[in-house]
Amino acid sequence: MRALFGMGLGELTELMAGLGEKPYRARQVFEALYKQRVGSVEEMTTLAGSLRTRLVEEGWRVGLPVMAQTAVSVDGTERYLMKMGDGETVETVWMPDGDGGERGDGSEAAVEEAGEVETAEEAVAGEQQIPSGNDRKKSKDNDNCDESGDVVGDGGYWSRRGEGRARSNFGTLAEKGFRRATICISSQVGCAVNCQFCLTAKLGIRRNLTAGEIAGQVAVLNRHGIQIGKDRINLVFMGMGEPFLNYDEFMGSVRLLVAGMGIPESRMTVSTSGILPGIEAFAKETVRPKLALSLNASNDVVREQIMPVTRKWNIAALLEAVQKIPLRTREWVTFEYVLLGGVNDQPVHAREVLDLLAGMRAKVNLIVWNPGPGIEYHQPTPADVAVFQGMLIEGGIATYIRRPRGRDIYAACGQLKRTVAEESGVQGLVEISEMM
Ligand code: SAH
Ligand code: SF4
Repeated sequence: MRALFGMGLGELTELMAGLGEKPYRARQVFEALYKQRVGSVEEMTTLAGSLRTRLVEEGWRVGLPVMAQTAVSVDGTERYLMKMGDGETVETVWMPDGDGGERGDGSEAAVEEAGEVETAEEAVAGEQQIPSGNDRKKSKDNDNCDESGDVVGDGGYWSRRGEGRARSNFGTLAEKGFRRATICISSQVGCAVNCQFCLTAKLGIRRNLTAGEIAGQVAVLNRHGIQIGKDRINLVFMGMGEPFLNYDEFMGSVRLLVAGMGIPESRMTVSTSGILPGIEAFAKETVRPKLALSLNASNDVVREQIMPVTRKWNIAALLEAVQKIPLRTREWVTFEYVLLGGVNDQPVHAREVLDLLAGMRAKVNLIVWNPGPGIEYHQPTPADVAVFQGMLIEGGIATYIRRPRGRDIYAACGQLKRTVAEESGVQGLVEISEMM
């Protein structure tokens, strides 16, 4: 099987030239793949029938991932097992009206909706909750304009700045009563980084995903009733894997999502555990998502214990590299901080975080640790979470508590593994209840 999905216009032009076709055919295939998001070559009705037949005969397929399983959480979060062409699987999470990154990740939505306040108690208990911060603003009635001023109204993502006018949401989300959704996508099968608190780490690294397989997770969802062009969607590269250890394919997927599928990069956030060469390359990109760095500790000693990768690139080196990223208007860097009870959640740690981030255009997303089988950490107490958040806010840093989504189906941060493990025959994760 040769996958068309994932090829850029240049590659498609070469392919068409090789078949003796005119260059405009490449554009038609490009539009069919990324705008119409067809599921098969047969559906590319703008192409001559003879060309479609020839493509199929030569082994070309659209090659999108297949949604092999779905789990639905009580909070509306859905987790999908996405099967790739070679049978490898990853997980993709869909969070309607969710925050999985867009609230508290530096995007406008985080600020705009912070009027819906949550408490530290709720974060630990795993109930519905919303971030709070020191830059809280009232929700706007018309929330069609994002931070960068891009219009994402009825013209959807196809109408960029200046074209089309903002109106209320029209997509299926609005019909269901949601204002937006976040899609959390995976960049690798498993992960090599070995953070001690993360379930994905237990898989080890199986392979990188291609740009088409990364962007394909979004395209497939779109084929299942989500209207990318109409609904207000945020993308977070926070699923399985370390995007900056698969840098070229990750950035390739960003280009497909932006240029092909019309999703503004201002609606995307990539999270890295701190891969220094990746951050340095990222700083030079002209089209790029926002950055979130998984800080997770306030000094190198603690960070080395929970994230052994710190031995290679320490906190000071990471912060120096982050500060070299030319930030866009109203862009902030998000620092994620997984609170592990008794490990990194005490006032002394909050003070150190304040020192580290002093003077930076930074926000902090506190994530209450989500438990996983075989991982020996504890959740922080609600009181410690509240004190930690309070100290950062007091110190002048916008600080949010990320609302845990889909814990009941193991879809929350750091919990992506279970169905993948089952598919690939990894044992020992049978006690988790799941609604299928
Ligand atoms: N590999 C990237 C992106 C995926 S992980 C990274 O590490 O940044 C996304 C976020 O989930 C990271 O901030 C990570 O620290 C956090 N995370 C991992 N395991 C977690 C767990 N069990 N509970 C809460 N957050 C977790
Ligand atoms: Fe990999 Fe991120 Fe999990 Fe660390 S937290 S093991 S980098 S997925």
